[in-house]
This record gives sequence, C-alpha cells and structure tokens, in this order.
Amino acid sequence: MPEQIIPIAISACLLGEEVRYDGKHKQQTWIHAMADVRWIPICPEVEAGMGVPREKIHLELHHQQLKLMSIDTRQDWSAVMDEQASVWIAKLQQQNVSGYIFKSKSPSCGIKDVPIWQEGRSEPVAAGRGRFVQRVTQQWPELPLVDEMALQDETGRQRFMQQVREYHFGSS
Ligand code: SF4
Repeated sequence: MPEQIIPIAISACLLGEEVRYDGKHKQQTWIHAMADVRWIPICPEVEAGMGVPREKIHLELHHQQLKLMSIDTRQDWSAVMDEQASVWIAKLQQQNVSGYIFKSKSPSCGIKDVPIWQEGRSEPVAAGRGRFVQRVTQQWPELPLVDEMALQDETGRQRFMQQVREYHFGSS
C-alpha cells in the first residue's frame, strides 16, 4: 500500500511565512484545505542569504547572459541561487517530493512571465523564468510544477493534484 500523504514543495510566502522582501507574505487560504499533502516550504532568497526584509532583486540581461541582480547595490546573486537550487533539488528528491507550487512573477520563483530588464532601458526587454525555477526545470524536468495563479479554482487544483498523484504513485 503506497504512502497516501504526498510531499509537495511550495514557495514559503504562499504558505503564510513572512519571508518576502518587505517582510510580508502572500498566503493562499485555499492551500490549507488541500488534503493528503505534506508541505515543504522553501524561500530561495532567504536560503541564499538575502535576509528579511531585503533589497529588491530582478532578472537582468548582461551581454546575452541572464543574471539575478540586486537593483540598487548591483550584487550578482546568480551563482549563489544556482547553488541553492542544486542543494534543494537533491534534498527534495530524497524526500520523494512529487510537485512544486511556485509564487508567480518572482525573479526567483516565477515559472513564466517574469520581467527581464537591461541596464539603460526603462521597460522590460523580455520575460522568462525565475532563476531558482530555471534550475529546477533543467535538473528535474519531469517534476509537476505550477504557480498559484493556476490554482485559484477547484478545477485547477484538481488538475494539478492529478499530475502529482500520477508522478508520485507512478514512480514509487
Ligand atoms: S516568491 Fe519565492 S523568493 Fe520570493 S518571498 Fe516567496 S518564496 Fe521567497
């Protein structure tokens, strides 16, 4: 009989942890009604050592290279974030994690439509994935992942949980 409780990783701010750059959270009330889930909250920016509160960061294009930069102090967090992602992917795989819910639009956690900036330009020049998610999708492409915007209604939540169950029970 397989384990019925499924571990799912989640951006910590969605679970109500006050880890955003401004010290606030983005709690989603419906999350607590999801059954048979063991949540594993992660804030990649806190894990990278940025602290709370912290300076805002964004994705920036430098000579065709995409970097994760702090906006005012111009610190490059790309390598630290990549290292954190690899560390966490290994930990989550050990824990048999079978899905990941990410916070939308974040330069670390966003799975799509994250603005990409370029020095000297007043508007974003493109859109892409957050730096942490980029690594997750490269190193663990089969993991079901979604952002909270796709889970605002019951249909979206059921669809995602079906993918998670197929991944979890199909791979155990
Ligand atoms: S979106 Fe990601 S990096 Fe930003 S506060 Fe939430 S968990 Fe942390």
